[in-house]
Amino acid sequence: MTVRRAAVTGGNKGIGLAVVERLAADGFSVVAMGRDEAALAKVAAAMPDTVETVACDVADADSIAAAFSATGPFDVLVNNAGIADSAPVRKLPAEQWERLMRVNALGPLLCIQQVLPTMMERGYGRIVTVASIAGHQGAPYIAAYAASKHAVIGLMRSLSAEVAGTGITANSVCPGYVRTEMTDQSIRTIRSKTGRSDDEAMQILIGRTRLGRLIEPEEVAAAVAYLVSHGAAAVNGQSILIDGGDLQQ
Ligand code: NDP
Repeated sequence: MTVRRAAVTGGNKGIGLAVVERLAADGFSVVAMGRDEAALAKVAAAMPDTVETVACDVADADSIAAAFSATGPFDVLVNNAGIADSAPVRKLPAEQWERLMRVNALGPLLCIQQVLPTMMERGYGRIVTVASIAGHQGAPYIAAYAASKHAVIGLMRSLSAEVAGTGITANSVCPGYVRTEMTDQSIRTIRSKTGRSDDEAMQILIGRTRLGRLIEPEEVAAAVAYLVSHGAAAVNGQSILIDGGDLQQ
């Protein structure tokens, strides 16, 4: 069987790294993309036979084009790179809105445009975007982040309608709080705004969840691994919640 080739943006840390590790273990040839070249070098050193790395800033169209043309073509794209920030709507800086929309919504579109022509020629492809539970519901202080994740889910749903029946699928995974640096940053923000301890800040994040704990990056990677499998050929246009059952569609 031919080895399938997968691109994972933000593949050097957190959820993206767990996806890279899982797809490499599942027999894919993986290209991990990111900006932090030291972190990329560690990934390449840890999985030299299965993983290549390339610098790629998903906020920069030229950087995306260079990274994909140097390493493609791909059978699988996992749009995982993303950033978070917070502010109350009344004070939300336009710059924060534009930055989050650029990285979290425009970045995935530009990456999809890099892989789609070849996928359409071949009649095969799997595209998965790591969105968020914030792509399904808003919450205080995360308007820009929630808007960017709603936007990218809309992108994936529309793409799924365009590619339906071609052998390509387009889906999103939507985790709640995952044990990564992004969540550590949320804890630090709660701590600095409220004066609570780290444990109290963690309770604010997970206290009202049914799961009662953070989600592990590997749990998100497991859902991605399913969606990119041959067996998921009929799953298209979905945004799968990985939140322990808090939101039910
Ligand atoms: P981390 O902060 O741990 O990692 C973020 C990743 O995105 C890094 O690999 C980073 O690479 C990359 N990245 C950020 N900006 C850019 C950019 N401009 N160009 C290329 N790569 C970039 O976060 P997570 O692993 O938690 O987040 C991964 C995805 O999961 C994000 O889309 C996030 O919104 C989503 N998510 C996270 C949740 C959580 O609770 N943590 C919950 C739901 C969704 P580098 O440092 O090299 O730029």
